[in-house]
Amino acid sequence: GDALCKDCFFWAFEEEIHQVITDGHLFSAGDSVAIGASGGKDSTVLAYTLKLLNERYNYGLQLFLLSVDEGITGYRDDSLETVKRNQHQYELPLTIVSYEDLYGWSMDSIVKQVGLKNNCTFCGVFRRQALDRGAIKVGATKIVTGHNADDVAETVIMNGELLLLQTSGYSFCLPHIWIFCLFLQHIIARLRRCTAITTGAEGYLPRCKPFKYTYEKEIVMYAYFKKLDYFSTECIYSPNAYRLCQTYIKDLEKHPTRSHGVVR
Ligand code: SF4
Repeated sequence: GDALCKDCFFWAFEEEIHQVITDGHLFSAGDSVAIGASGGKDSTVLAYTLKLLNERYNYGLQLFLLSVDEGITGYRDDSLETVKRNQHQYELPLTIVSYEDLYGWSMDSIVKQVGLKNNCTFCGVFRRQALDRGAIKVGATKIVTGHNADDVAETVIMNGELLLLQTSGYSFCLPHIWIFCLFLQHIIARLRRCTAITTGAEGYLPRCKPFKYTYEKEIVMYAYFKKLDYFSTECIYSPNAYRLCQTYIKDLEKHPTRSHGVVR
């Protein structure tokens, strides 16, 4: 709600990220950090601010750009061109891992087989693994992603929606209430995991979200006023449900504390 000039906005934005990083103990000196880079606004701003803060506050991090090529013609091939330019602009080494090389399937071929219904489920599982494998390949000790407050709120709402869908139409007897409580416990544990600032199951690299408390709107403004080079087209296989959810979150944001409430 503060009225800030451009320079003060830049400073406030960067200092808030620094605060999140230090309060959340996201890094230790000597960490090798792979930045999940898609060429979109979030990861571009993340790469830019992390490099800047690493130099300003002497974090002692070694930073890399790590991109996943899902094999989506007309979307990822174009966005990867942006990451390749970012590599030179920010002087950060870039590694690209592809679904085709890792699994023998591209998203284009998966969608041809399964259609547009479960494509994001396959893609999400593949991407998670691909990022891990890529990060291990470059010797990273941590992965950072550009997930922002809107993304986290979206995950919470989509999971809540799932809960409603799975329980709607039930008339509950006692054993059903017991099962429902177990299910609720499971969902709450899942939500807790996906809203944590650092996640990572045993055997996986820790993943951090320095933008967990940053609104998408602020990231767009930062990228725009800093004239950063990013790619803004949406995935051609993006499902409608996400768009509806995004509209809902934009509505929540009209009252600024609400979407932060969902994230916390
Ligand atoms: Fe993959 Fe596109 Fe779905 Fe994102 S929207 S998970 S890139 S298929």
